[in-house]
Amino acid sequence: MSGDHSKQIAEAMCGSLAESWKFKKCKIRSSEGQVLDSGMVVFFESPNSYTGEDVVEFHCHGNPAIVNLILEDAVNRGARVAEPGEFTKTAFLNDKIDLAQAESVADLINAQSKSAIIAAGSSLSGEFSSKVDSIVEGLIKTRVVVEAHIDFPEEDIDSLLLEKISKDLLVFSNDIKSLLVDANNSMKLREGYRVAIVGPPNAGKSTLINTIAKESVAITSNIPGTTRDLVRAEVDLGGVIVEFVDTAGMRQNPENVIEEEGMLRSREAIEGSNLCLLIQDITEVQPFDIELENKMTVMNKCDLAVDEPKEQQGVFYVSSLTGQGVGSLVKEVLLRLGVDEGSETPFLARKRHKVSIENSLHFLNVSIKDLEEKTGLELVAESLRLAHEGLGEVLRPMSSDDLLGEIFSEFCIGK
Ligand code: GDP
Repeated sequence: MSGDHSKQIAEAMCGSLAESWKFKKCKIRSSEGQVLDSGMVVFFESPNSYTGEDVVEFHCHGNPAIVNLILEDAVNRGARVAEPGEFTKTAFLNDKIDLAQAESVADLINAQSKSAIIAAGSSLSGEFSSKVDSIVEGLIKTRVVVEAHIDFPEEDIDSLLLEKISKDLLVFSNDIKSLLVDANNSMKLREGYRVAIVGPPNAGKSTLINTIAKESVAITSNIPGTTRDLVRAEVDLGGVIVEFVDTAGMRQNPENVIEEEGMLRSREAIEGSNLCLLIQDITEVQPFDIELENKMTVMNKCDLAVDEPKEQQGVFYVSSLTGQGVGSLVKEVLLRLGVDEGSETPFLARKRHKVSIENSLHFLNVSIKDLEEKTGLELVAESLRLAHEGLGEVLRPMSSDDLLGEIFSEFCIGK
């Protein structure tokens, strides 16, 4: 519970509270005096709380009926139910955290792999923000120098000073570029990776997905055309979530509308994937003429091959049934996806951040060009202002209630 009256409401429910940041064992009572639960209560006095307002936390038993009774009781005494993300939004509005940190709260809650949790955690602790902030500070300092010389004729400005500005701008440009590389990598981590498993019917696609997922997610059978809908399996591969999508067998002449619809969905899945595994039965390789952009060819059922297969460069030989070769296949998949096992992504960025960083880089490059071409310091100053504002949007957008509404609406209630 956050806000001016929280202490008063909590004391009516639990008796007097302990000093700020100290737990107190208590009975939580309804307005009629009935004991709803025995638990703990802790008071965080403003401004040293998550939201910056007075905050009270109730620690009760987890039975949803108990939680609801306590909630209803607080509402009866004058509280109201918070909107999704309202606590974090209040923290942002009270300057306890910047917007990138607020967003990382939602990312942390939704993170599905160890790498994503670690990256979201470091964003929340401010690592991303401080990288952005240090570039913003540099830009501000340079803007001050540039703006102070706007009214000077170019020939009166010390050439050493112009050289220093130019050098600084190049440093900022490199820093922003490396921020962008990290942002791109981390977006993949946030969104996860998708691998489509395609190939002719009966090649063993469902069997392969079951072997990789180590559970039976797809029905396998020797009747061609069994898989008609997409089967998805999210697999944690060394801390990274990869979604494998088993597509319906593609054949030239689908037998009926269901198979046709399955093939349509398969095409969509292929388009939305980062990588395609084209599976072939090594004992019966069939023509497969569907264009695949980023593909790896996998020869399956190697356990049935009478002769030792003549290995072709870039082709993987496995048996989905026995598991032979599947481990190396998975390793290669991670490599092809660009997942660097063991490396840590320093933060978790979003599309919004990426767009702002790209904008900033664009205007910074314009300012570098303007300076080189001596088009006048007014123009340099203007593009630097835009570069500064662009990057500043990541942490503290100029305004826009719409943006805040959009960001905080994806939160769950109570955060
Ligand atoms: P899909 O239509 O491509 O999904 O193929 P399935 O996974 O349903 O497999 C078709 C048939 O091939 C099933 O009877 C599987 O048991 C069999 N199969 C799949 N992979 C292998 C393999 O590596 N070795 C052998 N011997 N049989 C396999």
